Amino acid sequence: CGIIGHVGDGNAVDTLINGLENLEYRGYDSAGVAVQNGSGIAVQKRSGEVDELKASIENVSLEGNVGIGHTRWSTHGPPTDENAHPHTDDTEDVAVVHNGIIENYAELKAWLRDRGHVFTSETDTEVIPHLIQHYLDGGLDNEAAFRRAIDELEGSYAVTAMFSGEHVLYATREGSPLVVGIEDQEFFLASDVPAFLEYTDDVVFLEDGDVVIVDEDGIEFTDVDGNPVSRETETIDWDP
Ligand code: GLU
Repeated sequence: CGIIGHVGDGNAVDTLINGLENLEYRGYDSAGVAVQNGSGIAVQKRSGEVDELKASIENVSLEGNVGIGHTRWSTHGPPTDENAHPHTDDTEDVAVVHNGIIENYAELKAWLRDRGHVFTSETDTEVIPHLIQHYLDGGLDNEAAFRRAIDELEGSYAVTAMFSGEHVLYATREGSPLVVGIEDQEFFLASDVPAFLEYTDDVVFLEDGDVVIVDEDGIEFTDVDGNPVSRETETIDWDP
């Protein structure tokens, strides 16, 4: 349902939570965040309201300047803590948030299970981090594994992923909206502009098939095959 991602200085958690609150108007049944901390990826997620997620975060010190967040509107699997996004692979090398539906998830899940992957949710989404992990295990680097995995997906999706130990976000869309926000050396990814409008009104609307890679130094816009594409930055004239 709602996606927010952040790369920049300072702790991403507040920005992510704000973003999720700004997306609440879309309706949702669960919420979660993942941040890159010193030792890897830390995930906190809950069924219920963003307020419940906030309360759960107060007890665990969650910190990191790169992160992703999600409000879920369940399509596959009931609204439980386990089914809330972000989803990770077995080793928590990669965390993923997803809007939309992966039509071929059942066959991907069976294929991955045959190769030893253990699933912890009933969502269609969880096949994405496991598929990425499969390609990492096969020797691909993070970017190549992300590209190879999304190449297998059928359906409609906006996906944002983050890898352990790396201050980079990878995102793509096919049939579900995704927009980038830019404020100096601070970057946002979201399913909808209001998520980050309090931080910047300079945005780039992604097109189907775009793959973007965002780090502290900037954004790379490419097509599925990795060829550069050019996307215009627009300034949103927003009347709240
Ligand atoms: N199909 C996914 C799920 O059920 C994502 C739903 C959404 O767009 O929030 O978890």
